[in-house]
Amino acid sequence: MSEISWNLSIIVPVLNESDSLEPFIEQMLPVLIGCAPNFEILFIDDGSTDDTLAQLKVLNRQDARIRYVSFSRNFGKEAALTAGLRHATGDAVVPMDVDLQDPPELIPEFVRLWREESFDMVYGVRASRPEDSAAKRTTAKGFYHLFNRITHSPIPGNAGDYRLMSRRVVDVLLQLPERNRFMKGLYAWAGFKTTGVPYQRPSRHAGESKFSFWKLWNFALDGLVGFSTIPLRVWSYIGAGVALLAFLYIVVLVAGVLIGGRDVPGYASLMSVVLFFGGMQLLSIGILGEYIARLFIEVKGRPLYVLQESSEPDNSHLPAAHDHVVSGHTTPEHE
Ligand code: UDP
Ligand code: MG
Repeated sequence: MSEISWNLSIIVPVLNESDSLEPFIEQMLPVLIGCAPNFEILFIDDGSTDDTLAQLKVLNRQDARIRYVSFSRNFGKEAALTAGLRHATGDAVVPMDVDLQDPPELIPEFVRLWREESFDMVYGVRASRPEDSAAKRTTAKGFYHLFNRITHSPIPGNAGDYRLMSRRVVDVLLQLPERNRFMKGLYAWAGFKTTGVPYQRPSRHAGESKFSFWKLWNFALDGLVGFSTIPLRVWSYIGAGVALLAFLYIVVLVAGVLIGGRDVPGYASLMSVVLFFGGMQLLSIGILGEYIARLFIEVKGRPLYVLQESSEPDNSHLPAAHDHVVSGHTTPEHE
């Protein structure tokens, strides 16, 4: 990386965002021109069904710094981010949402901390989440708390995907082979010199959130199961504890019979023990299932996403990122 000429990549997953593209570009261009000698905005069309892709093509034709790759269907934001990291060519990469909830004004500060104070990772911290409901805020808080208790790479609360990563962090992320892409966990796993910049998170510019309660629940489960084996191991302890209690109870029962004679009515205690063990077993089998299901997915080794088209010369079969030059679809395939 030379001192004067470096390149910043913005990667933006988009799913049916035709109303947000233009305002996003309008706000981003002046900021980027002001703080980076070279830059690219790389959109990942995550299987949009509106005219998002058509708009991306037009934007790319007008300005070769705006590039895109397009998935054959919806593969999810995490897959889109991975595709973005793979195709980004910059010396630093910033993932952003297109709905202007990640304020572009923060980028110069991210860049400053990276260039001048040599942080490898600078993430935005939401100082407030006014638009999220109280329920969403509390569950998010509970999730971070639990995650950080049971994993070895704690993630900062209230940090999203909005962050700047240096090339070496990006290269680490690209080496991780897993299909379960819980990106927030992976960012933290990579390590390196990291800092946070607080900001106010504004409301969505247009359209509505693409994440339902159910999607978020599964997302949280992916995070926990992908980064901790404690849910799997805790059963040995619970099992041992319950077995000990059962043993004590047996002693009490036997002693009761020996001292007080035979005691026929035992329906209530019998029932509660049977139900309790039944529930425990189902729960532990369910947790085994969570891991086995993910093992199954990893073992199949399917690609994370399928590209349908892109503004690049076709190189989707190549494993790593910066194997092609910046600029748009007219790029000759040399190097
Ligand atoms: N997104 C995506 N694929 C999905 C869901 C969302 O690419 O399956 C994109 C979406 O277009 C947006 C970003 O991810 O650019 C964040 O989505 P959203 O604003 O709906 O999430 P929230 O801000 O509510 O967390
Ligand atoms: Mg949003």
